[in-house]
Amino acid sequence: MTFTLGVHESVEVVFSPESFPDVLDVPEESAVETRIVAHDDATALDDLDAIVTFAYDEAFLDADLEWIHSIQTGVDRFPFSDLEAAGVALTSSTGIHGDAVGDTVAGYMLSFARGLHVYRDAQVDGRWDRTPPAPPFSLAGERLCLVGLGVLGRGIAARAAGLGMDVVGVRRTPTPVANVDEVYGRDRLAEAIGGARFVALALPLTPESEGLIGPAELDAMREDAYLINVARGPVVDEEALIEAVSNGTIAGAALDVFETEPLPETSPLWDLQNVILTPHVAAAHREYAARVAAIVGESLRRRERGEELANRVV
Ligand code: NAD
Repeated sequence: MTFTLGVHESVEVVFSPESFPDVLDVPEESAVETRIVAHDDATALDDLDAIVTFAYDEAFLDADLEWIHSIQTGVDRFPFSDLEAAGVALTSSTGIHGDAVGDTVAGYMLSFARGLHVYRDAQVDGRWDRTPPAPPFSLAGERLCLVGLGVLGRGIAARAAGLGMDVVGVRRTPTPVANVDEVYGRDRLAEAIGGARFVALALPLTPESEGLIGPAELDAMREDAYLINVARGPVVDEEALIEAVSNGTIAGAALDVFETEPLPETSPLWDLQNVILTPHVAAAHREYAARVAAIVGESLRRRERGEELANRVV
């Protein structure tokens, strides 16, 4: 028997599809032979049993796939109910991004505290300008509020605690989390973000979290506070955010994700000095393919034993 796993061409935005077989350990000494093939238009989906992908393609539903693995943690682009109705399993890549995203968020906070982003802009212009964009500060003793305390939130919390920050967080069940001094329930969001110098969003995009940060929440933030979004663009009302950073309701923002990606050339965000933009690369890592492969390999082994796939969402 053969189990054929396709690697969809869309993974190219994160790693080379050709590199995936080199890092994936398939089950050995098994009755089922696992074949890994690169899927492009020339390879019929019908020949595949499962696919590892970045993008969602409606054709996945018509093919006789058993299982789709998303190389991202966020699976908001996948139609859960259609997949369920078609009997297709969906698994995610949660669990592997805490260190990379944690480092990225620490970098944003250090830039804002020390003005690094503005000095880099001056360097590009060849300007010796010592004027700080805001009164410089150090992170020790400053409060970070994390909204979402899963893999990303915990990775960020560990780094912030190491920098001497006072870390609080918001989660649906307000039970204790390592490196987080106080955990608030969802109903206390305004109170939690109101006392923080940095508010970092690290939760999935769901019907509940869409538009979670709008005009009222931005008003609840301190005037010297920064919003960080490494979750998904639509968690924040982008127009309200542009207004808030333009008129000084908050001090600035660091954004890795946007309502529309790539960010349109016409977006006012490009021109705001107190906004740091990164093009959805907060989780980028040279080991990304190997880390995804470890999850997929685990699922293949579990499948062999008749167990549930790893990180199953649908
Ligand atoms: P995770 O599943 O480990 O953790 C998500 C946490 O958010 C969970 O603890 C969950 O209980 C909590 N949560 C869900 N809805 C909430 C709500 N309304 N209010 C408060 N908390 C809520 O996932 P993760 O690995 O931490 O990733 C979180 C999200 O970040 C992903 O779903 C994805 O959209 C995004 N992400 C972005 C990047 C990037 O490159 N920028 C990388 C990885 C993940």
